[in-house]
This record gives sequence, structure tokens and C-alpha cells, in this order.
Amino acid sequence: MKKRLIDYLQLKQLKRFDLKAVIFDMDGVLYDSMPAHDRSWQQTMDECGLTHEPGEFYLHEGRLGKATIDIIFQRNLQRDATEEEAQRIYARKTELFQQYNSGATMPGAKEVLDYVKEKGLKPVLVTGSGQPSLLERLDLHFPGAFTPDTMVTAFDVVNGKPHPEPFLKGLIKGGNLKPHQAIVIENAPLGIKAAVEAGIFTIAVNTGPLPDVILREAGASMVFHSMEHLGKALPDIIRLTAEVTV
Ligand code: MG
Repeated sequence: MKKRLIDYLQLKQLKRFDLKAVIFDMDGVLYDSMPAHDRSWQQTMDECGLTHEPGEFYLHEGRLGKATIDIIFQRNLQRDATEEEAQRIYARKTELFQQYNSGATMPGAKEVLDYVKEKGLKPVLVTGSGQPSLLERLDLHFPGAFTPDTMVTAFDVVNGKPHPEPFLKGLIKGGNLKPHQAIVIENAPLGIKAAVEAGIFTIAVNTGPLPDVILREAGASMVFHSMEHLGKALPDIIRLTAEVTV
């Protein structure tokens, strides 16, 4: 664990961390919503007669809706979707998601957020989701954890993950932070790539069906298998960010 933190500092030619914020992805980290996303994407594409590959929506996780739709369109029709097609398909996917999503939070997520706040660190949310009433729902399940000032959603960015823009905006919303003043908690390969590209130390929580190696290859410095598992290690991680120097 300590070695991973030292590796990061050496790579960035920094002496130490100066941790101020913890940036959370939403789906698959705070909410157990990925099975419902996967199912609703698959059904939407089936209804449109567009083929898709097993597990591919887990690999696309984090992309903006239009970007995912364009990948499927390119493979099936050798062109991007028009804005009208993309809106219609994304609306159908959203409708199905609302039907299938249980709304369950990820076990251990609340405890991790509580610990972050207890340590005086600012929780920031960075999600590719563009769902309406996101904030109301978050505030219901994680009261007081996030405000509009500490959230980056699909409406705040031009370029979605794997582009670093969402996390660069997250650093700004964290209080104009430098990359070594935050850590990221992500579950998806493209989210990890985006966070690493933004220069931030990135912890993966592998809550889905993909093998760990995909998350490591995307650049995650640590991989945990649940938020509960991460919650057990978090006190040590946060203590070490204050202690390690190179
Ligand atoms: Mg996610």
C-alpha cells in the first residue's frame, strides 16, 4: 500500500501528498446500479436491432450516452447516430433504467463517505450520468455529502470519461486543487483512465464482472473488491498519505 503511494509521488516528482478531497464516481461506487445500466443498454440496443457484445456496457461505463451509442452505431451501421437518434435511444435507455434500478446503495459506501468527512476531507462527485434529480436522490441516501458546488455531472463537461476533463473539473470543485491534493475512487476502466490522465492517485473498487487486470491496466494504483473492503483499508491509506515522503 505504502509502495503504491511512493510510486505515485516519484512518478509525479513530488515530495508528499497534501490530501484535501476524495473524489467519488457514482454508479458502481456509491450505487449498486451497474447491473440495471447493463440490462437497460442491452435491451435498448436489442429493440433497435443493433448488436452488442457480452459485457461491453461495463467496458463503456463512464462514457457520455451519445459516445456509447456512437460506438454501437459505428459497428452496426458504419456511422454516428444523429442527435435525434441518440436522444431517442438514450431516453429509452433511461426509461428502462428507471424501471430496473433498485436504487440500492453500495454496501459500505455511506461508511466510507462518513469517514472521509470525519477526517476533514471534502467529498466530491464526478459522474458521467446525466440523470435528472440526481442531487435529490444523492441527498436522500447520503445526506449532506454533496452539493451542486461539489458535483460534476454530464451537464458540466464537453468531454466525458475517458477524457480527463470531468476529473479536472472535480479538482476545481474540490477547491482549485492540484492532482496530489485528491484521490479518486472509481470502478470502471474508462473512469480510472480519466482520473489517471488528470494526474490523480486512483483507487479502484471492482464491484462488477470485469477482471482486476483490466482496472490495473487502466492505471489503478490499488484494487479493492467492495466499498466495505476499501472502508477497512481507508484509515491506513489516509494516514499514509500524510506520512509518506520521498
Ligand atoms: Mg462507475
